[in-house]
This record gives sequence, structure tokens and C-alpha cells, in this order.
Amino acid sequence: MKFAQEFRKALQKEGFPEKWVNSAVPYGQLKKCLKKVTNELRELGLDKDTLAQLATSQKDPSAVAFHYHLDGKLTHSNHFRPRLTFFIHLQDGVAVDAKLTPSTRDFLKKVVSKTGETSVSLAHESSSAFPDTWIKSTDSPLNAEQVLLSKEEPLSVKQIEVPLVFDGEFFEILQTDVSNLDVLQQEEQDKLGKEIALLGHDINKATKPSKGRRARGDLETWRNIFELYLDARIFFSTREYDHGARTSTQAIEQLRWFQDQVLSRKLIHGLKLENSRQAYTRFLNMNALLLQILKFQEINSLAVTKILKKFDKRTALGVSRAFPVTVQSNRLLAGSVAKDICAQMSNDLISVVPQLDDYLCPICFVVAYWPVRLDCQHIFCSRCLVKMSRKGERFCPLCRADVIMRAGLEHFDSERAAFLREYFPKEVKEKIKANERERNKEIFGPDYSDSPCSMM
Ligand SMILES: [Zn+2]
Ligand SMILES: [Zn+2]
Repeated sequence: MKFAQEFRKALQKEGFPEKWVNSAVPYGQLKKCLKKVTNELRELGLDKDTLAQLATSQKDPSAVAFHYHLDGKLTHSNHFRPRLTFFIHLQDGVAVDAKLTPSTRDFLKKVVSKTGETSVSLAHESSSAFPDTWIKSTDSPLNAEQVLLSKEEPLSVKQIEVPLVFDGEFFEILQTDVSNLDVLQQEEQDKLGKEIALLGHDINKATKPSKGRRARGDLETWRNIFELYLDARIFFSTREYDHGARTSTQAIEQLRWFQDQVLSRKLIHGLKLENSRQAYTRFLNMNALLLQILKFQEINSLAVTKILKKFDKRTALGVSRAFPVTVQSNRLLAGSVAKDICAQMSNDLISVVPQLDDYLCPICFVVAYWPVRLDCQHIFCSRCLVKMSRKGERFCPLCRADVIMRAGLEHFDSERAAFLREYFPKEVKEKIKANERERNKEIFGPDYSDSPCSMM
């Protein structure tokens, strides 16, 4: 199937909102405009083969035949206007560039006569103006040094801008659409961002442990749900081996896995509060919307890539790499929406249900209770710090700052302690017991046991 058709179908079948579809890349219109560009170039003697032949010399900076700069000028709408510039090597006012074909020379002569640069005369018929070796080796780029050595007269290079109309039109359409799509994506991201923050707020409110047993139960369930969600890495992976953004196909697969897991572990049954259940539905809808945004971004950025490739294939002007850089689309072409939203989800949503992993002491890997916040801001459990200072260790194991000997009672983080008691009561209780056991062993010797003493 042709891409134009595929694109149209994808826009219809995915159920995108009308507003989105209306701002999708106008692929058909761009294709028509591209036809005008190629006609225009052909009329000027610059068909794609001529340009391609000239482009092969671009690798050698001394023999650049033309430049096609996308950001040549800015238009009134603040869009860039592409500029095609030719460089002609002149000797005694005669173009000697062996890279130019007769039709191109013919065309450049026309351009020169139009722009009034009459001093440039192009000798396209008199091949005797070229040294024999140049004519024979037209495939090898010109060597400026060679030229200077072979002739007494210095070589001069004339720069001529080729006035084109339809390439400007093509890029105006494309840039307008890309910036519209960037705006649209930004709007969707903002909307979704607000919804994420609101949902985080609602879940936090509903599951405050102080609200009682049901709230605490729901909090535990949310913790499991979010843990699964993070494991699923639906839209974005931070793992070493598959780092980066997911494609929509991968995202669908991972989202499905996540929902299946939630069902098979009967986690929804674990949500006892009506607010929690509603929040879960909102959470799923949010993910579905993000998936839609991702799909829409994908097919539109594919459409941009395809039309630019077509442009290059038909003109050999080489824009497919330059355009995404020049247009500076930080949403659509950068594909950053999924990443940004995932970052926000972990900041504003997942973090409202604290995960134990984030509150472990980095030395004993148990909840950091009693928490001591060193001057470097790293938090350890008080037991581990006592042991470190006894051993005479001065440096924080995480950042190597000289802070351990300075730790005192005032470094006890009472706010963190209250938080841990509220959100991880079970773990805190166990840790207190373990601390006591350890201390008693230190006092009463290694044989100390905290089992109830039996009367003999
Ligand atoms: Zn510790
Ligand atoms: Zn530190």
C-alpha cells in the first residue's frame, strides 16, 4: 500500500479526535507541491540527475558546486526560506567547472542574464576552454591546487543564487504544520499533566494511612499496582538494555501485560474505597490517551520523514537530515511527549504512594529508621552511622563528603521519621526490634537471645 493511503487510513481508524485529524500532516498537498518543485527545477535545467551528479562533488570542499541551505532567510511568518546557491569557478570570466553539464551551464547563463551579472560568461560550447584532463575525468572532483598550478591566472569563484518559488511554498506548508502539531502536542501534554497531578492529589487524599484501615489497605494495593506499572515500562524504559522511548506497538503490548497482571493478581478487588476504584479507571484512561498521543505523533513524524525522503529522491537537494534540525520541533519530531509525561507520572502520581525502595538505608538495605540526615543530605539509619563512626570512618559512603564525625542529635530527621511511621509502620516496627536486638548483643555478648527467658 502506498504511504499516502496508509496514512489516511491510520488517521481514520485510530479514532483520533477531529481536531487532531484536521492538523495532521497534509501529505497529499505536499506531494502536489513537490511536483511543482521538480517541474520548476527541470525547467531550469536542474533535473534530479544533474543535481545528483553535482552533489557528488560536495564531499570535496574545494569543489562544492552548490549549497542548498534551508535556513537561508526567514520569512514574515518566521519560517525559514530555503536558498539554492551555485558556485562557479571562473577563469578569465569563463566558467570552467567541469562538473557542470551543458544544460546546467545553459541554465546558469540564463540566471546570470536575469540577475544582471553580465560579467560572467559561460562557455558551455567551447569545451576547448577546459584542459583535456578535466574533460576526461569529469567524475573526479576539481582540485583547486591543480587548477592553480595548471594555469597562470588565479581562479575566482562566483556565487549565484538560483531563484526558486515552489520549494519555498513546500517548506512553508511543512513548517506551518509541524509547528501546529507541536502546539497541539504541547496542549495535550499540558491537559494530561493537569489530570495526572489531580489524580495524584486524589489518591493521596483517599489513602492517607491516618484515615483508617481501609485507606491503609488501599494504599498497599496502590503500591502494588504502581510497582507493576513501573515494572511494565510501558512508554519509556530506563533500563540499560532497552533504554529510551517505546514505540506505540511496544507500548500496547506492555500496557496489556500490566492490565493482565492487575487482573490476575486481583488487585482491583484490593481497592475497597469507591474513590480508589474510580481513580484506577481514570488512571487507565490516562494511559489510553497517552497511547493515542504517541500513535498520532508516530504517524505524523513518519509522514514528515517520508515526504522529505521523496523530496530528496526527486531533487537530490539533500534535506531529509537538515530539516528536522532546522525546524527545531521539540515535540513532534523529537517525540518527547511520552518521556515528559512519564516523568510527570512518577513525580506527581506514583510518588504519592511511597515505595519502600526509596526509603532504605543504603548500607543495611532496611528502612532507614531512625533516620539521620547528614550534612551532605544523605540519609542513613542511626545504627549504621553509629557503627561507621566507631570504626573511625569519616566519609559518607555515597558522596565521600567528610560528614560522619559531625553527625549529632540535631541531624535526626524527625519529619522523615514521622513519615516512615505513617507509611511503613510494619517495616519500622521490625527495624526497631532489629536495632534493639543488635544493641543487646553488643551489651550482653553474642549469645544474647531476645526470646522470652525461661525460668529454670
Ligand atoms: Zn542502615
Ligand atoms: Zn553524602
